[in-house]
Amino acid sequence: MMETIAELADVTKTFGTNGGRACAVKNVSLQITRGELILLLGPSGSGKTTILTLLAGLLEPTSGHCMLFEEDIAKYPPEKLREVRANRIGFIFQNFLLIDALSVRDNIALALQFAGRSRKNALDQAQKLLHSLNILSLSDKLPNKLSQGEKQRVAIARAIANNADLIIADEPTASLESKQGSEIIQLLHRFAKEQKKCVVVASHDLRLVEFADRVIRIEDGMIVEKRVRRDNDV
Ligand code: ADP
Ligand code: MG
Repeated sequence: MMETIAELADVTKTFGTNGGRACAVKNVSLQITRGELILLLGPSGSGKTTILTLLAGLLEPTSGHCMLFEEDIAKYPPEKLREVRANRIGFIFQNFLLIDALSVRDNIALALQFAGRSRKNALDQAQKLLHSLNILSLSDKLPNKLSQGEKQRVAIARAIANNADLIIADEPTASLESKQGSEIIQLLHRFAKEQKKCVVVASHDLRLVEFADRVIRIEDGMIVEKRVRRDNDV
């Protein structure tokens, strides 16, 4: 059996107080293991971002249990949860969230420095990553000089810089044209396979289905279908 990286066990998340309560996630159970790209597929408002946030330990469930690295997040001391988030989880967003005033290299190095690396070590590691993602030529550029697809590659470099085990990508292709989008999802898929990591992608884009090992369809905060794909090993 592959190691379980993250798990939701019968998780419900309700927002708001008595007056206007909204149930964003209802009785969701799912397990995420090493070496796979999982696609959470559902329309806007279906609860995808809430599920990702719960998986990353950024939100407490109203009921049920959220596990990270085989331990219940509710039992993590706050310091350990911060450490796990900084060192074992990487985040990728629709709008990249790069720092415009910093070069590509410094965007990546800064994330590593936050996680405790020395400046020199962080810069070396940033160069290595840019090289491995074939974007070393972008190293000195500012983000606003990059194409959308290049920006997302840099954001991926930043997310995987720490050697994170779990990469969480919220609508990572929504700002990209179709071709760039499929390059990005293929990059994430290859990363999951080659590095034996785990990538969870939330999207409403059906075109991503062919790149996923498992597709979990979400509607109204509930899982309506789980499907395993076996024909896309690389
Ligand atoms: P998706 O990412 O699939 O678009 P979300 O997880 O963002 O869906 O939202 C699911 C539902 O939960 C929506 O109805 C949304 O309005 C609601 N919701 C999400 N976050 C909050 C919040 N912080 N406070 C209140 N309601 C929220
Ligand atoms: Mg969302």
